[in-house]
Amino acid sequence: MNFKEVSIVGSGISGLTAGCALLSKGIKTNIYERSDNVSEFGAGITLSANATCLLDRLDILSQLTKVSYLPKKIIVRQFSTGEEIARMSINSNKANEFITTDRRDLIKVLLDRYQSLGGEVQNSSEVSEIYPEDNQLILSDNRKQKAEVILACDGIRSNIRGRYFDNSKPIFTNFLAWRGLTDISNLPDFEDSHEINLYYGPGGHVVHYPTGKEGTVNFVGIRESKKWTKESWRQEGSKADLLKDFKGWNSDLLKLMTSPQNLYKWGIFERPKIKSIKNKNIILLGDAAHPMVPFIGQGGCMAIEDSYTFGELYSKLESQEEALNKYQKIRLKRGNWIQRRSNMQAKFNHLSSPFLVKVRNLLVDKMSINGVKAVHSYDAHKEVLKVLKS
Ligand SMILES: Cc1cc2nc3c(=O)[nH]c(=O)nc-3n(C[C@H](O)[C@H](O)[C@H](O)COP(=O)(O)OP(=O)(O)OC[C@H]3O[C@@H](n4cnc5c(N)ncnc54)[C@H](O)[C@@H]3O)c2cc1C
Repeated sequence: MNFKEVSIVGSGISGLTAGCALLSKGIKTNIYERSDNVSEFGAGITLSANATCLLDRLDILSQLTKVSYLPKKIIVRQFSTGEEIARMSINSNKANEFITTDRRDLIKVLLDRYQSLGGEVQNSSEVSEIYPEDNQLILSDNRKQKAEVILACDGIRSNIRGRYFDNSKPIFTNFLAWRGLTDISNLPDFEDSHEINLYYGPGGHVVHYPTGKEGTVNFVGIRESKKWTKESWRQEGSKADLLKDFKGWNSDLLKLMTSPQNLYKWGIFERPKIKSIKNKNIILLGDAAHPMVPFIGQGGCMAIEDSYTFGELYSKLESQEEALNKYQKIRLKRGNWIQRRSNMQAKFNHLSSPFLVKVRNLLVDKMSINGVKAVHSYDAHKEVLKVLKS
């Protein structure tokens, strides 16, 4: 195929990974980013095998591993006592199959790789209109740009999705997330508390893990909440409010959660299930396509799967239309399934009936191992090969 240049809107995980996937095949890309620099919020992120195997194929994983933490276990605990309910080994086949890292480092490694391949990001360039029939996009300062294939990597608040796809808006999920970074010395004194530790409680759960940044631990605490009144998606939160939200939880865990100087509270939003992620020459990737509650840590992993899949299809198929159609066929199904699976996890983690909690705690070993396997063992590379052969 005579490859047309690909225009990418957004320089988050999906935009930068898509840029790397395409440039590594010799396909020119242009990333438009509305912010005046490429940046991320300081917080942790976990990436599982379904994403790291693709980053490995894109020659990104070895660099990312240098700034990441390589956990060996996931330990599930009871919310008030910290008593262990279950533990699961990870990374036993390969040390960096499952990594935890700081988002700023992830974005920096992706950007470095993109730039080393000759890629450029146009900052302060907000895409405001797209004219698919004219192969053109317009920036908010009225600059017109040629755009023959457009990847909308513009996140959960994607205007492109609302405007050219399903007219939807983000919806509050009735969950909020407390997030913070703190020093490793604040970890509770439980066995293996420096691994990934997950606490199940009524109406909420908490996870903490080191990020790979010297001595730093990230935590996320999820609570069910009837409303989110703030206009912004993130607000600074007070220790008193956090303690109110997690009343009755383990005191050592709460010591960790109230130790950071800055605490942030996020409203968790999603968008309705989408029927199509392709419209003419525009496709949706990452959170623009399938934003999800972060309860199995898959939003960023999906962004990487989407981007890799598109890079492979676009570089291997003769026809652009066929590449876009096959992208939609593969990614719509997988994205919608992971979205549903993520929602189910909240019900499992947040049970309050003592009987159901007892049953869950007995089954958590088996259910978590099987559930995780189904999500993490997916290989987007093999999936593309299968579709190309069919
Ligand atoms: C509390 C929490 C914890 C999470 N934990 C995990 C985890 O452990 N593991 C995991 O895999 N995922 C996790 N996620 C999900 C993950 O953060 C997201 O899925 C991921 O960041 C989405 O990346 P993206 O590139 O699609 O979108 P974004 O990161 O939102 O990037 C969108 C980019 O597009 C730009 N943009 C928007 N509109 C325009 C425009 N019109 N023109 C130009 N630029 C534009 C924005 O400025 C931004 O840079 C978590 C999410 C939350 C809320």
